[in-house]
Amino acid sequence: MIIKVLGSAAGGGFPQWNCNCSNCVAVRSGTPGLKARTQSSLAVSRDGENWVLLNASPDLRQQLNATPELHAKPKFGPRHSPIKAVVLTNGDVDHIAGLINLREAQAFSVYGTDRVLSIVADNSIFNILAEPLVPRIVLPLDRPTPLSGAGVELGLTVEAFAVPGKVALYLEDEAAGPDLGTKEGDTIGLKVTDPATAKSFFYIPGCSQIDEPLGARLKDASVVFFDGTLFTDNEMIEQGLMPKTGGRMGHINMSGSEGSIETFSKLGVGRLIYVHINNSNPALNEASDARKTIEGAGWEVGYDGLEVRL
Ligand SMILES: [Zn+2]
Repeated sequence: MIIKVLGSAAGGGFPQWNCNCSNCVAVRSGTPGLKARTQSSLAVSRDGENWVLLNASPDLRQQLNATPELHAKPKFGPRHSPIKAVVLTNGDVDHIAGLINLREAQAFSVYGTDRVLSIVADNSIFNILAEPLVPRIVLPLDRPTPLSGAGVELGLTVEAFAVPGKVALYLEDEAAGPDLGTKEGDTIGLKVTDPATAKSFFYIPGCSQIDEPLGARLKDASVVFFDGTLFTDNEMIEQGLMPKTGGRMGHINMSGSEGSIETFSKLGVGRLIYVHINNSNPALNEASDARKTIEGAGWEVGYDGLEVRL
């Protein structure tokens, strides 16, 4: 199984178009130790020929151009794509808007929970990806589902599971109470398995808390790509960027007693890789204390183009 990080940044990317935080200013000016990053997506393949995207970011066109494995191959005729399926983990703009880039009458499958597929259905612009060419397939929770698309079996299964999180920003309902109208299936994690080798990894780009059931599920996993949005819960407030904590945005922070570094230290995971990293996160700077803390705890900071083979 080949896993490629297409985009390792959170929504907005790095740098973000309208942001003058110290990281964005530094990466724009080419300061050493900071790498630009596109928005959140992974690509996975068992055979190197047929691929599934885990989320479709607004930067997808740029990501495809940067990834030769995902280019159209002339030997397959005038129109072709190695992308046979897309699996969505929530309805955030950074995870679904890239579907629009996959128009032009190409067959593939879109997988998501009932909740996320209903967002796609409610926004008529996505009808540019019309069934039956682009079927929308409901992912059940807690059950491995074999992936296929365009008549090709991908030889991989994906198991979706609910994780603590929040409904997409543009669907928040303040009147619904503190959960903002969040329902099961709004945010999921994925376990992707190659049944032929029994190797697997987890992909959880959005998660507000590692509760007991999630910790039990991840215990002793070989590889986990995990939500690295913020280093501290209030960093966006402290930097004057916006008045929300990470918790309010549906994202756990890296540091602190409830953070991902501390929580994962007890889970025995083989390889831990942060993805979905917000531009405010000091760990984006390779010279920062935050980066040293992360790496000292055994984590890697994901970057665009990172390849993992299992
Ligand atoms: Zn910024």
